[in-house]
Amino acid sequence: MRELTIAVIGSGAAGTSAARTLVGLGFGGRILVIGETGRAPYNRTLVDKGLMTGLLTAEQMALPAVAGTERLLDTALGFDASASSIRLASGAELRFDAAIVATGSRPRLLETALPGLPEAIATGRVTTLHSTRDAEAIRGRLAVGPRRVTVLGAGLVGSEAASLLHEAGHQVTLVARSKVPLVPALGRAVAEQVADLHRGHVTTLFGRTAAAFKHHSDQVDLLLDDGRVIESDLVIVAHGTVASPPASEGLIVDDRLRAHGEASLYAAGGVAVLPFGDGRRLRIDHWDDAAAQGAHAARSLLHSLGQVDDPGPYRASSRFSIRLHGTTIAGAGVAVPGVVERAASYEPLITVFESTEGTPTGVVGVNAARQIQDWSTRLHRT
Ligand SMILES: Cc1cc2nc3c(=O)[nH]c(=O)nc-3n(C[C@H](O)[C@H](O)[C@H](O)COP(=O)(O)OP(=O)(O)OC[C@H]3O[C@@H](n4cnc5c(N)ncnc54)[C@H](O)[C@@H]3O)c2cc1C
Repeated sequence: MRELTIAVIGSGAAGTSAARTLVGLGFGGRILVIGETGRAPYNRTLVDKGLMTGLLTAEQMALPAVAGTERLLDTALGFDASASSIRLASGAELRFDAAIVATGSRPRLLETALPGLPEAIATGRVTTLHSTRDAEAIRGRLAVGPRRVTVLGAGLVGSEAASLLHEAGHQVTLVARSKVPLVPALGRAVAEQVADLHRGHVTTLFGRTAAAFKHHSDQVDLLLDDGRVIESDLVIVAHGTVASPPASEGLIVDDRLRAHGEASLYAAGGVAVLPFGDGRRLRIDHWDDAAAQGAHAARSLLHSLGQVDDPGPYRASSRFSIRLHGTTIAGAGVAVPGVVERAASYEPLITVFESTEGTPTGVVGVNAARQIQDWSTRLHRT
């Protein structure tokens, strides 16, 4: 019988986990794991905590290849599910019998139409914080003495960066469009505590957006929509993520993580757009959840080949945590749009997100990691 080929496109959290699961469940064919040209895959969660802070080198963050698979570092430019083929940057065209797309996300950028932005980016004083290249550039910029750093965006990555840079002695200004950032991800009660935490440690300008940039030889000025000017040595743009190419709109999957209803195409991690009932959809961009999705997609795929039992619908329940100014914010599952926020406890503060039918889909707490672990096993049960 002809040997089957499964292509795993992307080799971060989701791709590595998918490949490991395919091997672990005894898939006997060829497993090809594709990563970007010239970039050894790495653990993205360490980009700020490890590399930006100088605790780790890029080499120490590398993800090893999964034994029993072939790794190919050749950026996928596009895939054609109906023709079962992938077009690679090298010009090669690869055929597959089934594929799992796990190309993750990329940072959402500021509108280049903002006056002075392209010039400020060209000086290296305005950067994103997503890749090892970003972290190395930031580290280079901040190497000498305490610096003035403005973080634009107070989502999880922006918040964590502000906290880490403050701890490192830099003078941090945190700017966010929302008056209370992070409400969609953490719920209002926890988000308000996070906002207070930031206020106690860094300069916060919430409810403000960038209007223009002006670069000088030794600094960059950021003009906000209220006319205020912030002088900085570096501006970090942390405006969340969007799905990565070649699936720039994200890949819509069903509850088995099958993309576009194609039996041979799956998606997992930051690129996958998951269904949450009532037509609502969501991308989840957390490391453990991406890994769980990768494993689930691999099981679903092997089930379609008749090799393992049906893993059932995917239900997000993985944990995540972030340390901000000495306080741990931990959560599990997701706050699906439209769910109800309910306080499960005030000391410590724990918020549960429930569907209108009363099913818990997510939980978040402040300094409550143990309780969150207990809660994670109760999610999606009525
Ligand atoms: C600074 C930072 C800190 C974070 N900290 C945390 C944290 O503490 N906890 C947490 O839960 N989450 C954290 N996250 C989010 C977490 O890293 C992501 O949710 C997770 O990496 C998503 O996994 P993924 O497999 O979907 O994508 P990734 O891990 O990004 O992997 C995608 C892979 O696909 C490759 N790829 C992309 N495009 C192509 C292509 N066209 N062809 C071939 N290969 C391609 C990439 O090179 C990469 O190897 C952080 C993110 C950032 C940016």
